[in-house]
Amino acid sequence: MKNRLKDTVYPFFLRLHQNPWIAGIIIAILFLLSWLIVFESGGTKYAHLHIIYFPIVLAAFRFRVIGGIIAGLIGMILMGPIMPLDVAAAEPQDLNNWLSRGGYLCLFGLTIGLLHQAILNGQNELFRILNYDPVTNLPLFEAFRRKITAASNTFTDPGIQHVILNFEIITAADIRSSFGNDASEDFIKACADRIQSILPGRSYLARGGQSTFLALIERVNQTEAQKIADNVVVSLRSPVMMQGLPMRIESRVGMVVFPDHGTHPDDLVRKSFSAMWQSPERNDTASVFDDTEDQTRRENIKLLSDLGQAIEKQEIVFFAQPKTCARTGLVRGCELLVRWKHAESGMIPPDRFIPLAEKSRLISDITKASIMAARSYMIATEKVLPDIDYRIAINVSGWDVTESEFPKQLTAAFEDELWRLANLELEITETSVIEDLSEAKPILAELRKLGVHIAIDDFGTGFSSFSYLKDFPADTLKIDQSFVREVMQTSTDAILVRRTIELSKDLGMKSVAEGVEDSAAADWLTEQGCDMLQGYWIAKPMPLSEWPTWLEKNDPRARKKPEGLVNS
Ligand code: C2E
Ligand code: CA
Ligand code: CA
Repeated sequence: MKNRLKDTVYPFFLRLHQNPWIAGIIIAILFLLSWLIVFESGGTKYAHLHIIYFPIVLAAFRFRVIGGIIAGLIGMILMGPIMPLDVAAAEPQDLNNWLSRGGYLCLFGLTIGLLHQAILNGQNELFRILNYDPVTNLPLFEAFRRKITAASNTFTDPGIQHVILNFEIITAADIRSSFGNDASEDFIKACADRIQSILPGRSYLARGGQSTFLALIERVNQTEAQKIADNVVVSLRSPVMMQGLPMRIESRVGMVVFPDHGTHPDDLVRKSFSAMWQSPERNDTASVFDDTEDQTRRENIKLLSDLGQAIEKQEIVFFAQPKTCARTGLVRGCELLVRWKHAESGMIPPDRFIPLAEKSRLISDITKASIMAARSYMIATEKVLPDIDYRIAINVSGWDVTESEFPKQLTAAFEDELWRLANLELEITETSVIEDLSEAKPILAELRKLGVHIAIDDFGTGFSSFSYLKDFPADTLKIDQSFVREVMQTSTDAILVRRTIELSKDLGMKSVAEGVEDSAAADWLTEQGCDMLQGYWIAKPMPLSEWPTWLEKNDPRARKKPEGLVNS
C-alpha cells in the first residue's frame, strides 16, 4: 500500500503541482465546489462555510504569498456578497461580517504562503550548502556527478562525445601548510577564476575536492579538448599574488573522453584521476586516460596489498646465491635474494615488487625478514663450514640506511650473538647511496662500528661521479652484471670492468663480479685480479633447504656429514 502510494499517487500530485495551469484549474474547481456545498447546505450560517480554507491552502502552497492573498480575496467574495447567510430564509450577510471574514481569509492565505516560502528558502539554502562550494561558488562533486549522468543521456545521437578534465592544483597543499587554510582557499579561488576564464562557455566546472577541479565540456572532440586543457595549463603557469608574493601554480591535468572511456559517472571520474597520475608526454599538456597504464596501476595496488599480507603469511622467502674466491674457488659466502611465492600467481620476481615496496616503505618489512633469514643462513653455513671467514649479504634500500633506528634493529635481531654481525654484509645500490649520502653516512659509520660490512651494489650504473666514494664507507665494490655478462664480447665492457677492479684495489676495497655466466668470463676476471665471483656459472640462487648440500658438494673444507644426518 505504502509503495503504491509512493509510486503512483505522489508522482501524480507532483505532476499536477508542477504545472501551474493544471494547479490553477484544480483550485478553481475546488472554489466552485466549496461555493456549491455551502449554498446547498444552507449558507454561511452553518459549519460547512469552513470548506473554503482548502482551496486557499492549496493556492497559497502552490502560488505562495500572492496566491494566498488572491485566494483569500476570492474566498471573501464567494463566501461574501454572493452567498446568503441563510439560503432558505434568503437572509443576506452583514457587510462587516463578510468583510472581516475576508480579511482573515487573506491573512490566512498570506501566512500559509509565507510559511511555505520559508520552507522553500530553507530547502534552497540546504541544497546550496550541499551542492555548492562557498569559496568558489562552483558546484560540488555530487552536482557534477548528476551533470555527467544527464550528459550521458545524450548518447542517443551517434558521434556525440564529451570530455572531462580533472585539474589538480599541487601548490595548494604547500600554501595550506605555509600560510594556513584561508590563504589556501583564496589561492584555490584565484585558480578557479583562472580556469573558468579559459574554459569555453558551454563547460561545467565543479570543485572536485580540496585542491581539484572537474570540468565537463560537452560536444567536443579530443583534439579540441586537448587544446583547451593546454591553454588552461599554460594560463595557470602565470603566478597568483599571495600575501604580496607571486605564487607559481603547479598543476596536473587528466582527461577522459566519453563514451570512449566509459559512461558511468564514478568510473569516468576515477579514470580522470588515473589519467592525471600518468606522466604526460609533455609537461605542458593534459594526460589522456590510458587503459594499459590504468591496469598496471590497479595491479600494482593489488600486488602491494597482497605483499603486506605475504610478509605476515611468510610467503616471502630468501634464496642464496654463492660468492666464491676467484683464485681458489672456495666459498666466501652468499647473497640472499628475495622470492615471493604468491598463492595464486606463483613465483613473482623481485624486480616486479621491490620497486613498489620501496615506494610504499613496505621495503623495511622485507629488510627485517632478510635479516632474520641471514641469521638462519649463518647457522646453516657454520654447521657445514665451521671456523671459516664468510659473509652473508642482504640487499638493503636507501630507506633502510637513512633510518636512524636501523642499526638498533640489527642489534635487536642478533640479540646476544652480536659477534655474528661481522658475518653480515649489506649490499646498497650506488644510486640509493648517492641520493641520500649525507643522511646515510653517519648510519653507515655506526653499522661499520658494529662490524657489519658494506658493499656498493650495481657499481657503474649510477651517476658515475667517483667523488662520492671519498665519503662513502664501503668494503666491497660489486661490478654490475650488465658489464660482466658481455665482458668477453664487448671491449668497452672489458675496459670498464678492468678499470673498476683496479679502482677497488687502489681504494683498498674487495671487488665482486656478479652475473658470471661461463668459465671464459670467470677465467678472464680472475686474470684481471677480481677477488670474488658470483653468477649462474657457479650456482643459481637456491633455497635454504639446498644450501648446506650445495656447500658440502662444492667446498673442499666442508665438514663431512655423518651417515643418515639430515640437513636443517
Ligand atoms: P641484484 O642485487 O643485482 O641481484 C642480482 C640479480 O641477478 C638477482 O636477480 C640474481 O638472481 C641475478 N643473477 C645472478 N647471477 C646471474 C647470472 O649469472 N646471470 C643473470 N642473468 N642473472 C644473474 P633477482 O633475484 O631477480 O633480483 C633482482 C633484484 O631485486 C636484485 O638485484 C635486487 O636489486 C633486488 N632484490 C632482490 N632481493 C632483494 C631483497 O631482499 N631486498 C631488496 N631491497 N632488494 C632485493
Ligand atoms: Ca645485490
Ligand atoms: Ca647487483
